[in-house]
Amino acid sequence: MAARSHQPPHRGTVQANSIALDAVIITHDRPKRKAVRGVETRSVADNTRPARLIVLSVDGMHPSFYRGPDELRLKLPNIKALAAAGAGADAMGSVYPSTTYPAHATLLTGTPPRVHGIYSHLVSLDPTEPARRWHWFAQAIRVPALWSVARAGGLTTAAVSWPVSAGAPIDFNLPEIWDPAAPDPHQDFRTVARHATPGLFEELASALPLSVDRARPDHLRGEVALYLWKKYRPDLLLVHFVGYDHQAHHYGPRSSEAMAALEEADAEVGRLRDASCGEDSVTFVVLSDHGFLPVEKEVAPLVILGEEGLFGTNAEGEPKLRHLGAVQAGGSFAVFWLETPTAAEQRALDCSLERLKATGAVAEVVDRRKLESLGSDPDAEWMLDAAPGFCFSKRFAGPAISESTEDRGTHGHLPGREGMEASFVIAGPGVAPGRNLGRIKLTDVAPTLAVRLGMPPDMLACEVEPLNLG
Ligand SMILES: [Zn+2]
Repeated sequence: MAARSHQPPHRGTVQANSIALDAVIITHDRPKRKAVRGVETRSVADNTRPARLIVLSVDGMHPSFYRGPDELRLKLPNIKALAAAGAGADAMGSVYPSTTYPAHATLLTGTPPRVHGIYSHLVSLDPTEPARRWHWFAQAIRVPALWSVARAGGLTTAAVSWPVSAGAPIDFNLPEIWDPAAPDPHQDFRTVARHATPGLFEELASALPLSVDRARPDHLRGEVALYLWKKYRPDLLLVHFVGYDHQAHHYGPRSSEAMAALEEADAEVGRLRDASCGEDSVTFVVLSDHGFLPVEKEVAPLVILGEEGLFGTNAEGEPKLRHLGAVQAGGSFAVFWLETPTAAEQRALDCSLERLKATGAVAEVVDRRKLESLGSDPDAEWMLDAAPGFCFSKRFAGPAISESTEDRGTHGHLPGREGMEASFVIAGPGVAPGRNLGRIKLTDVAPTLAVRLGMPPDMLACEVEPLNLG
């Protein structure tokens, strides 16, 4: 049993295999490399010619949308063209929970959540907080990410709305961040501006019309990415497209609204591809972080945990934190002891678990042993995986089971669940056209991209071999 103090800055027990990147500089023949004095020199790991790299994350995109039969009549000409011109995976296994922030941290570090430290999207373990903070800040990542590897090699980097990137060593960074109390997080540009590279937001605001068209949520991200790509010519450009994820949550993973968002992301992929037409050193990567499952009903574990006395009530009648923390993430739900529980509290938690299993809303109880094998949160007592058609609600009141009021689609489930697979497509110099990479994992991506940038993958803390793309 692991009792943890509430909201420690770096909870968890695993020591990261950290590497002092500032003590290393890479040498190769690119003229724009910056000289760094007084540091060790290393040579590039292999003979792959360094390439400028565009990494486009289409949040939540399942590979069947561009690899499967065209039953949905989806128009994704640009992603399909890249898949035909390069290599692609049948499926890419996500992390647990299969949510955006842990997954994106894995994509750029090559390590599972238990190593990189982003165990869920939330920093806070307190489910009674009305507006919980997310893991926006790169400082919480405990191992080197690709942006640090690029910087150590003197490469120029840019990022647009990339998760867990606020404060990252990125030359031109417009991070994904918002005030959790803001009425509309997607319009909260003030918080983005405050955490962007100094002066960059003001420059973009004078050069581009910075407003979000709700029907085309990814268009602005594409505009900003194009501007940065053309003006600053970064070696590494990271862009996070979120339109499909939003619509798939709200209307369902195969809804017409979600399909329209996917086509919009494809159009932005096309604009960036057109902008680098004729530059044969550019490598394109289109990937995602997880898939999606449809939702009809919701289960509210906090209702049952509250009934068993594990949460109190304050003077206003609102739920009050005691010794148990919780994180709900769509298809998964985790509990944590914040203080060592009494025997009665442990019995109440055991009883709650039996009641939750009896609802039929739980596909699997993921115990500490399995969480360790998955590289997941070391502090969770257990996590629950939602049964087909269910998602976990954050409600403390109302019935334990009800029709889903908010979501028609969700993710967060075990990465082996059918439908939870992520996407990976890569096209560029030296990549064999049509090569099938089979089933890969999110941890394969970072070392593979490091090699594309001409950097040794052992600068990352992972021990995964780069994918063979030739
Ligand atoms: Zn996501």
